[in-house]
Amino acid sequence: MPLPTLSADQVEWVAQQVVGYIGQQCQTYRPGAAPLTVSQKTVMRPFFPDSALNSARLVVLAGQRVNNPRFYGELIQMGFAPADLPDFAHMVAITFVDTVVSHETFTDRLLFHELVHVVQYAKLGLPEFAAKYVKGFLSTNSSTSSSTQSWAYQSSQPST
Ligand SMILES: [Zn+2]
Repeated sequence: MPLPTLSADQVEWVAQQVVGYIGQQCQTYRPGAAPLTVSQKTVMRPFFPDSALNSARLVVLAGQRVNNPRFYGELIQMGFAPADLPDFAHMVAITFVDTVVSHETFTDRLLFHELVHVVQYAKLGLPEFAAKYVKGFLSTNSSTSSSTQSWAYQSSQPST
């Protein structure tokens, strides 16, 4: 099923909700998150600016999962099917600005992918990141092929 067509105002509203959700999740998890370890920084240093390596915070959740946004209820009323919406609770990890919340132990590959998102947030700022994510999602019907995601996936495929 195609996604419902939203007006420009609705797209703007969704992007604002995403900004609120990401900001709130960052505030929730950042206090309990840890900086990269020395060895993680050593592995990632060739690929990322020190600003990202130093600002990023990591947390691995045990016995709990990230909550999906409350505004999903409103999106469903707008005509979205629940299965169409990105399911953060079942993603391996999600980056909220500089705070990477993972449901699994960090591998170098996972950390690399999420640090690309940390850099995206730093380059774009949260409002622009959210707008790109939402527009990418609405135009491709897939959170994994949104522009922010494909940027991260391309970056995480080094030619080894
Ligand atoms: Zn990603």
